[in-house]
Amino acid sequence: MLGFACTIKRIFNDYVEGKTARQIAADLNKEGVASPRGGLWNASTINGNRKRRNSILNNELYRGKIVYNRQSFLRDPETGKRRSRPNPQALWVTKHVPHLQIIEHEIWDKAHALKEKCASKCGNKRQTRKRILTGLVKCGCCGGSMTIIGRERYACSSRKEQGTCSNGTSIKAQDLEQRVFDGLQSILLGREDTVQAFADAFHGEVKRRQTNNASNKSAVQKDLLKVETSIKRCVDLLLHSNTPMESIRSTLEELETQKRALVQESALQTQVNKIVLHPNIGALYARKVSNLKSLLENDATKHPATEIIRSLIEKIAVAPTG
Ligand SMILES: [Zn+2]
Repeated sequence: MLGFACTIKRIFNDYVEGKTARQIAADLNKEGVASPRGGLWNASTINGNRKRRNSILNNELYRGKIVYNRQSFLRDPETGKRRSRPNPQALWVTKHVPHLQIIEHEIWDKAHALKEKCASKCGNKRQTRKRILTGLVKCGCCGGSMTIIGRERYACSSRKEQGTCSNGTSIKAQDLEQRVFDGLQSILLGREDTVQAFADAFHGEVKRRQTNNASNKSAVQKDLLKVETSIKRCVDLLLHSNTPMESIRSTLEELETQKRALVQESALQTQVNKIVLHPNIGALYARKVSNLKSLLENDATKHPATEIIRSLIEKIAVAPTG
């Protein structure tokens, strides 16, 4: 059997025998086993996103199934980057490929029963919202990323995910953010040139978003129309055919979720367009900088201000003292 297939088998077996994804990743790293993309194993490579089914334990291919059309792509109105959005399960297409099967059904089912149990026990892991410093906070010991754990604290992710770092301290995200704002304010305040640069960058970012918005707006409206048409079709089907309610309900629920997201997106776009730039923006922001937080608390200025503040920071290293 190929080396990688052996590793997949082993991961499933270890998991079924009660090891956590974190322990399995740490073991594989200790033994120097290559990960799918090279580099180190993470707990999330093994146990990652259930909805998108892109981790080892969730990869249907290992039990001989290929699933197509699970997501569609859309341009993010804020960053302009392509972003994936999960498709309703009713649109997925499954093909059986028994010759590619690595994991026996029995082991697969056991592993997934365990996963379910853990998910309900640990409370369904909610997606943590992106914080202003996400991606910028680094571990002062190993240089790896610090990510949010538990109740919104930053901790070394190499330690958590790969078991390769000794930095066991964590810091409350809010406290870290406050320290960073205070630091930035003291750098920006009283320095006309810096404040002007900040104002120019802010101005530019708002303009860029407004331009971006115009083209994204029509895309969102088009998607919204498509979703609304699908909803209408589902309702028609319910009213005028004998299709059982149950088979349509989940599709309808997912469509409604998509619709809500699109309506929200469209509202956000309208807000960005409403930002009016102050003619004397330099003076205004000299005042505003004295309270960076007010820019971040206002829905209309939150996103551009976040981008600028993030662009001012290369990284924040967090290390234990003493
Ligand atoms: Zn570390």
